[in-house]
Amino acid sequence: MTALSISAAFDGGNIEVVSLDCAEDIQLRIRPDVGEQFYQWFYYRLVGAQGRDCRMRLLNAAGASYAQGWEDYRAVASYDRQTWFRVPTRYQQGELIIDHCPEQNSVYYAYFAPYSWERHQDRLAAVQQQPGVQVDTLGCSLDGRELDLVHIGNQTGEHGDARLRIWVTARQHPGETMAEWLMEGLIDRLLDTADPVSRALLERAEFYLVPNINPDGSVRGHLRTNAVGVNLNREWQAPSLARSPEVYRVLERMQSTGVDLYLDIHGDETLPYNFVAGCAGNPDFSVRMAELERAFTTELLHVSPDFQDQYGYTANQFGAETLTLASNQVGHRFGCLSLTLELPFKDNAQRPDSRYGWSPQRSQHLGRALLGPILALLDRLR
Ligand code: ZN
Repeated sequence: MTALSISAAFDGGNIEVVSLDCAEDIQLRIRPDVGEQFYQWFYYRLVGAQGRDCRMRLLNAAGASYAQGWEDYRAVASYDRQTWFRVPTRYQQGELIIDHCPEQNSVYYAYFAPYSWERHQDRLAAVQQQPGVQVDTLGCSLDGRELDLVHIGNQTGEHGDARLRIWVTARQHPGETMAEWLMEGLIDRLLDTADPVSRALLERAEFYLVPNINPDGSVRGHLRTNAVGVNLNREWQAPSLARSPEVYRVLERMQSTGVDLYLDIHGDETLPYNFVAGCAGNPDFSVRMAELERAFTTELLHVSPDFQDQYGYTANQFGAETLTLASNQVGHRFGCLSLTLELPFKDNAQRPDSRYGWSPQRSQHLGRALLGPILALLDRLR
């Protein structure tokens, strides 16, 4: 029988091997982000186990950042690195246990369908060749990667400053790969010249899209932080080039363009739903903002049955940290509608899919759907 091999020495990889002596009791640990404060993302390759009943135990699951997120969670697996299907998983006595008999000799397992830096670069190289698209850099990350900005709009500036500025960022928390899958759907629809919603939007608005604001954390296989272990979504009040150049550079560009609408895309480890969190905790939160948030939610409910507004975060749950969060700080600073959109790691419990759970494809559909509410609210954003 061939020897087993497990590796994570690739883009986004994360696992440590404790014991690989027998397929029935593979013992693993998730490697924490730099700084040891956070972990939950895992992504590894297993070779040599074709046709063998494997039991993989993630021994340190109980200490993960959101241990309650393991309840009713199922890991994803892939043979071809394209299709990621769910495999039997349970959380028991503080361990996450994955039971799987691979049909192929080489198989990958992950917390959610990975989104590689290579794919990111390929996609941007492709979209910049479409009319009205410019791929620009905001600066560099601490590991030296470009912070990519996709600008989509009427480059002739036909409407001048009357054009609305719409910003969307994704993957502040790099393990939340569904956020970048969503961005693919949103960008693809915006660039579909046969789509009347996209055409109407681009007649009057400019889009500033940051599909991956945390490339270092993504490549390093982090859950939540950048190259020096900083949680970017607590840096928006006072970012610095030493700790959080990703945030510093985005805010700097926002300051020069202005912002009329901001969406920040995330994944939630625990709740099996799509939901938005608004700015109700902001000190200057107004009646007008409350109405805009409600209108956006209502429009999104109409166009995406995968979205809901029953389950989500409680208002004010971030307390004194509120203005350090991206959507709160941007809403506060620019006086604009500003929302965090959360997608599930698990599934949408209201419309479950037993084979794939929540998936890249469903994330893309939600990204496409976002354009409807944006168009519906366009006249009220400024
Ligand atoms: Zn997040």
